[in-house]
Parts: sequence; C-alpha cells; structure tokens
Amino acid sequence: REGSILVTGGAGYIGSHAVLALLDSGWRVVVVDNLVTGFDWAVDSRATLVRGAIEDDELVRATMREHDVRAVMHFAGSVVVPESVTDPLKYYRNNTAASRSLIESAVACGVKHFIFSSTAATYGTPEVVPVHEDAPKAPINPYGTSKLMTEMMLRDVAAAHDFNYCALRYFNVAGADPQGRSGQSTAGATHLIKIAVEAATGKRGNVSVFGTDYDTRDGTGVRDYIHVSDLAAAHVDALDLLIVKPEASHTMNCGYGRGYSVLEVLDAVDRVTNMKLDRRMEGRRAGDPAELVADNSRILATLPWRPERDDLDQIVTDALAWERRLSERTDR
Ligand code: UDP
Repeated sequence: REGSILVTGGAGYIGSHAVLALLDSGWRVVVVDNLVTGFDWAVDSRATLVRGAIEDDELVRATMREHDVRAVMHFAGSVVVPESVTDPLKYYRNNTAASRSLIESAVACGVKHFIFSSTAATYGTPEVVPVHEDAPKAPINPYGTSKLMTEMMLRDVAAAHDFNYCALRYFNVAGADPQGRSGQSTAGATHLIKIAVEAATGKRGNVSVFGTDYDTRDGTGVRDYIHVSDLAAAHVDALDLLIVKPEASHTMNCGYGRGYSVLEVLDAVDRVTNMKLDRRMEGRRAGDPAELVADNSRILATLPWRPERDDLDQIVTDALAWERRLSERTDR
C-alpha cells in the first residue's frame, strides 16, 4: 500500500464509507471535500481532511504532491435528480466541469488511476431489465447526462495518457456502516429507504408511495438496493485491479441484480421496526422508470468482490440504527 488515495466527497454519504473501507484495508487516505453537503465529523479520524473545492487546481495539486497520491476516488458532486432538471448548469458545473478540472490535475501530477462514481441514471429508461453496461446510454435528466459526460472524458483521457479508470454505475445505494461509524446524514432526503427510516424514527409523519400503476408485480417501482458498505468494498477491489492491470479501464454496474418494489421496502421497514408506517398512495413521480435492476455479471466476472450484505432487512436495520444515532447528535 504505497502512497495514498485521494477521496473527493469523502465527507459525504458514499465517500465516507469508501474512506472507512480504504483505511480498513490499509490505505492512507486524504479527503478533499468542500463540506457543502458533507460533514467533517463523517470523515474517519485516521484520514486527513482538506477542506476545499476539487476545481481549486492549486489546492488539489498541492494535496496530490504532499500526500504522494496514487489514485483518486471521485465521489464529490451533486446528486438530486429533480434539482438537476431545474438547475442543470449547477450539475454541469459541480459534476462535469469540476470533474474535468480534477482529471486534469490528476494527469498533471502523474496520478494514474481514477475511480469514478457514476450512476444507473446514465441509462435513462432502459428497454431491457436487468440492464447491461452495453445498453444504450440515454439519460433522461441533466444529472445522468453530467455523469455520462464525465465517463466520456475519462475514456478519452485514458486513451491519450498513462492513466486508467473504473467508472462504477451505482444503482440504489442504501444502508449504513454496520459498525455505526457512518451513514446517510444529509438533510432533505429524497431516497426511499432514508425517508422510510426517518418516518420510523418520528422525523416525518408518513411515506408517499409514488405510483401504484406501474407494470410491476405490485404496481410500485422496483429498484436494485445495494448496501453502501458492499458498494464501498467494490471500490477497494476496483482500485487494486487498476493498479495491477494499468493498461485496462472498466465500466461496471454496482447492484445485486435483483429488485424490490416500494411496498416490499416499506414492508421490510415494518418488519424491522415492528411498527406500521403510514403509507400514502400517490401519483407517479416525474422521470421514474418502472424498474431499474442491474445486470451485475460484469463486476462479478471482473472483481473478486462479492455481495456480503445482500439482504433488504439488513440494509433497513443498518439505515435505521444510523438514523437513531443521528437523532442523538447535536452538531448537524
Ligand atoms: N419512492 C417513493 N416514495 C418516496 C421516495 C421514493 O415511492 O418518498 C419510490 C420512487 O418512485 C422509486 C423508488 O421509490 O420507485 C426509489 O426512489 P429513490 O428516490 O429512492 O431512488 P431513485 O431510483 O429515484 O434514484
């Protein structure tokens, strides 16, 4: 484990779990985060936290040199799909343009490996589910487009420079560190499992079910929920692969390859809490596909990574435990 790993967005939800996974496997870690949506206390104390913007070339390059950075894991970005529709330029700035700066800094500093947080939103509304990496990329919102453009930059940079990358296309990330060291902390949640555990801990009154007339087994939307700690572990394995085989780059779905409906998720929360959530049946949310499930055959064939927490009740249990911890915190 020579050198260190630069984690952008390491104070955020998925990034903070990746920091834990890297540290736990013996890597040194330096986090660059502007703390706009992240929290300094979310960064494990074994890591170095540099507060700043990833498009601050001077700061990023000084950090890369000072910490002998060997690879970048790039989580920083904006992630709220409806906001990307009303403020697209924010997404092209924070996701696309900021990534461009960061990649340029990596190339300038001789950082040869790059792991990028991409998304199933790059597929838009897939025609075939489970969706394979080679399916058409047809994002239906600026969020997906902003991420797809970054994938394209990485492809071209890898062809031009001594540089390889792994773009990981996340499906629905949920849960929290099973040891209770991190979780989803950002206020104003829009994601189903976070909303459900907020309701279960009395932070909101009810849970809306957006759409009951989809062509799915119970009429509600089906998604592939992946435990955030499994996702973080995939990043560590991807990093090892990039280092061992520097000539190859990869794009891989991150999901379990099976879906749960909204009602199945809410049933799991009811089971785990032994309570009954107040469900409100509502109309469809704009831009939601009926079903989004990963074909995960590529990641299983490419990495040693195997799902270890592929269990909806465990995802909910860990998310709930973190939500209860958050309620006790006063510094957020
Ligand atoms: N959903 C819902 N109620 C909510 C939030 C989400 O019914 O309060 C549904 C949403 O329509 C979709 C699924 O839950 O079918 C997952 O949505 P989420 O926002 O968690 O993730 P997305 O798949 O949109 O990235």
